[in-house]
Amino acid sequence: MKNAEAAELLQNIADMLEIKGESPFRVRAYREAARAIETLAEPIEAVAERDELEEIPGVGESIAAKLAEYLETGTLAYYEDLREQVRPGLAELLEVPGIGPKKAKLFYEQLGIDSIEKLEKAAREHKLRTLPRIGPKTEEGILNAIERLRGRSGRTPLGIALPAAREFLEIVRGLKDVRQADLAGSLRRGRDTIGDLDLLASSDDPARVVDQFVALPGAKSILAHGPTKGTIVTAEHLQIDLRVVKPEEYGAALQYFTGSKAHNIHLRALAEAAGYKVNEYGVFRTSDDRRVAGETEKGVYQTVGLEWIPPELREDQGEIEAAASGDLPDLVELADIRGDLHLHTDWSDGRDSLEQMVEAARARGYEYVVISDHSVSMGFVHGLTLERIQEQRGRIVELNERYPDIRILHGTEVNIRADGSLDYEDEVLAEFDVVTASVHSGMGMDRERMTRRILRAVRNPHVDILGHPTGRILGKREPYEVDLQAVIRAAAESGTALEINAQPDRLDLKDTDARLVAEAGAMVAINSDAHSVEQLGLLEYGIATARRGWIERKHVLNALPLEQLLRRLGRPTTPARYALAA
Ligand SMILES: [Zn+2]
Ligand SMILES: [Zn+2]
Repeated sequence: MKNAEAAELLQNIADMLEIKGESPFRVRAYREAARAIETLAEPIEAVAERDELEEIPGVGESIAAKLAEYLETGTLAYYEDLREQVRPGLAELLEVPGIGPKKAKLFYEQLGIDSIEKLEKAAREHKLRTLPRIGPKTEEGILNAIERLRGRSGRTPLGIALPAAREFLEIVRGLKDVRQADLAGSLRRGRDTIGDLDLLASSDDPARVVDQFVALPGAKSILAHGPTKGTIVTAEHLQIDLRVVKPEEYGAALQYFTGSKAHNIHLRALAEAAGYKVNEYGVFRTSDDRRVAGETEKGVYQTVGLEWIPPELREDQGEIEAAASGDLPDLVELADIRGDLHLHTDWSDGRDSLEQMVEAARARGYEYVVISDHSVSMGFVHGLTLERIQEQRGRIVELNERYPDIRILHGTEVNIRADGSLDYEDEVLAEFDVVTASVHSGMGMDRERMTRRILRAVRNPHVDILGHPTGRILGKREPYEVDLQAVIRAAAESGTALEINAQPDRLDLKDTDARLVAEAGAMVAINSDAHSVEQLGLLEYGIATARRGWIERKHVLNALPLEQLLRRLGRPTTPARYALAA
């Protein structure tokens, strides 16, 4: 059936006409015909065979003739001509999912972009965001779309994919005839990067739900439109797949489409051994093919003798064995977090003031918050000199008086120098409540030197936390060459916590490394590294990463109540010292 193909051809023609500046009526005629073909109940070839193309709503004589030519020969001379008339590069731009004629024209006219290569370069150099209504998200989306187009991985950071998917999820939940809807796939498992965004819904009339989904205003283009599945591309170039199943199959489908593949293979093998068959429609007894579960996910797991397994663990990394023996970890939750130990203000490179950051931490209900601006060698971001440390401490004393409902701790994110020494002297470090040490330069060191450098910082008695321990930036920078096992061992010995930095492009430590930390008996600190008030909310991505790393509340430094935290850090528990220091 060539319906989707034919509809796409007409949409492409409409795009070209629009770029050429042809009459909006002609453009609209092609688009309307395309939509009618998309929702056709039978193969368009059959309609053509009966010579009834003109009976399709919106398809007149001229469009019918073009369709007939295309269906017969597989090409269309009119379309090929158009492609030649339009600047060839612009036609190429339209192949990037989510780029329509308006954007293509804008990019060409404002930035001279007339090829996918130039588009990619402009996006990487952040030039697109200088244009009206183009933000960093769109830029990121365009890069992903280009990578997908080229068959590369094209994955989106969780921090961009999750908010977008939730927005659509809420809309889908509100559609007519939808009973339930959830996130699925790697999104539900909380992976650090996401391919396509998967949504799942249940309904007694799946086709009707898909029809509504692909017609949503947020759908900038439609990649697939079938009776149980629709795929759209958003303005941010995110590809969203919605599958709709019958209510009685929902649990089985949710289990199946959440994955991972490895987890599902293991689960099916286990089920088989127990005399069951598990697939996306339900759990069936092998002996008589009777359906015994499928409505809920819990039921699917129970039938094969397992506890329900949190999605973040479903990677076949021992979770099935743990579920069978009742030993699943009690994973940390966002609500367990008592405070954020790493944030920046406009005293260094943050956007917002000390007071605004404190207010934001209060609004989140935190018991404590640590202000940790950069240290002095970070001159280019106004790292704090000794005088400014004192000045800032004075402000913190005042704020502690003004806000008795939250304890504001004075911290620092101190640079680890190339030799592993720190940016401040020991006496200075001793005055802070919390010291996070991080590598911000000289990242290209060889493994031996880098390991020595970081070990020295981790073993420094003044250091409480090692910030973003591997330095990776997703899609941009590989982790440093470092013997992480040695670092983790040293952290366990010295009582230094290793950070799970929740910035979506860091998520550093990553999930599997976090698990090693807990296994070694060391602690993690899950921090936002917020540079603005909104970024305090990034913490949830750190939580997702921690959960994927089997982290429980007891492994998390900032899940401790204030007094316990200070005692563990070896700091006095009363705020009086600030007054003295100031
Ligand atoms: Zn840092
Ligand atoms: Zn930082």
